[in-house]
Amino acid sequence: MATHLIWLRNDLRITDNRALHAACDDPDAKVLAVFIATPGQWQQHGMAPRQAGFIHANLLALQQALAQRAIPLFFHQCDDFSASVDWLVAFCQQQQVDALYYNRQYEINERQRDAQLEARLAGNVACHSFDDSLLLPPGSVLTGKGEMFRVYTPFRKAFIQRLMATDVSSLPAPKARGKKIAVCPIAPFDYPQAALSDAFPCGEEAALQRLRAFCREQVQDYVRQRDLPALAGTSCLSPYLATGVISPRQCVNRLRAECPEVLENTEGGAFSWLNELIWREFYRHLLVAYPALCKHRPFIDWTDNVRWQGDAALLKAWQQGQTGYPIVDAAMRQLNATGWMHNRLRMISASFLVKDLLIDWRAGERYFMSQLLDGDLAANNGGWQWAASTGTDATPYFRIFNPTTQGERFDPQGTFIRKWLPELADVPDNDIHQPYRWLEKQRQRVLNYPQPIVIHQQARRETLAAFEAAKREAR
Ligand SMILES: Cc1cc2nc3c(=O)[nH]c(=O)nc-3n(C[C@H](O)[C@H](O)[C@H](O)COP(=O)(O)OP(=O)(O)OC[C@H]3O[C@@H](n4cnc5c(N)ncnc54)[C@H](O)[C@@H]3O)c2cc1C
Repeated sequence: MATHLIWLRNDLRITDNRALHAACDDPDAKVLAVFIATPGQWQQHGMAPRQAGFIHANLLALQQALAQRAIPLFFHQCDDFSASVDWLVAFCQQQQVDALYYNRQYEINERQRDAQLEARLAGNVACHSFDDSLLLPPGSVLTGKGEMFRVYTPFRKAFIQRLMATDVSSLPAPKARGKKIAVCPIAPFDYPQAALSDAFPCGEEAALQRLRAFCREQVQDYVRQRDLPALAGTSCLSPYLATGVISPRQCVNRLRAECPEVLENTEGGAFSWLNELIWREFYRHLLVAYPALCKHRPFIDWTDNVRWQGDAALLKAWQQGQTGYPIVDAAMRQLNATGWMHNRLRMISASFLVKDLLIDWRAGERYFMSQLLDGDLAANNGGWQWAASTGTDATPYFRIFNPTTQGERFDPQGTFIRKWLPELADVPDNDIHQPYRWLEKQRQRVLNYPQPIVIHQQARRETLAAFEAAKREAR
């Protein structure tokens, strides 16, 4: 009897898992699963303790689901990727593994690790890897010249054409291979611990339920609601997608079940939501085409000449939600408390750090990663390079969000702001975006809230000058 080993990484689910499905294809094979925690490597990558906790919680659910199918999940913990390769080679030998199955990861260290492992196993263990975390594999959507698109809209057009011609149906969970086996729950990782928010229950059933409800009840309103952080107008599926508790195929297939015309009808909520899923693909495809992005290099070289201010006090004020700009502060406090931030607010708070505080975008990228439940190198780097105007198809450097008018536009009554900044509870709607103005009118009152740490108009001028100087220097 052949022994098949499925190595689970960021694909923590049993349904629509291509590697798991393939490992279980032969009904006579003995199937084992393994997960390897690498806390040292995670530290190097700046993974949020919260995300590690979320992975652990989902791993426990996965362990149960596998046990019901008589597939034992082995767990090992070692420092880094290199140690994980050594251990896996020995484990394959010990368990007499004939074939290893895994879903590809596209970041540079992960790819190097997998290449090393395959080289070490060559001749002894057959390695089968799969494109699973994307709708279409990197390198499969190219320009007429055979290059990766640098601009999103033509990428999307080509992507949809290809998607229409591709079978992306979801695979079922593997059948039980015997009676349910007993399990001993996996111990917590040797990684800093953080409390998990109830807003993101673990397990693929919770994720699928959320997907079904969103596509059935909310997606039609997505265009109108997606930019308003006071409403629950987006899917909140990002933590599940980032850790592979749900697949993008499951998302698209559910969307198509509810809105069969979504690929043809570019108007409306369903297409707008699909568009976001395609942004996710775009950034991952870019990461593979331009691996320097994994090393946090800017896409536009000259932007590396910008003379950033390394003001630690300003950075700290931003991190703690104490900038005196309510929409930015409410956003940062949402992030710090829950590990999730609304997309519009990610754009505003990232723009504020870079364009108002003139702080290197990489400091913001790192901080987001250290807090986010959905931290994902490609999407985070893509989002930061977009906001900082250093990326491909990014917002131009001279387009600078005004944090006050952004707040007025996307949280007009200050509902979101008051939720996260209780100290502003008494400030009336008219002044909620500029509470110091209200304070000036109410002389006798004191607000436990800072004055703006920079003056936007002045900061804007300085940032424009810094970017223009950097551009001149490169000529
Ligand atoms: C500065 C910055 C940093 C970001 N960092 C991350 C990150 O680390 N991880 C992450 O998953 N997303 C990141 N995003 C993208 C986006 O903000 C989140 O994916 C989104 O807010 C998640 O909420 P949701 O699941 O409700 O999204 P929905 O609006 O419901 O969208 C559905 C899914 O599409 C994907 N998606 C949506 N918008 C984007 C986008 N702009 N780029 C790439 N994928 C997208 C996500 O997987 C999301 O779950 C970042 C954006 C910015 C501007």
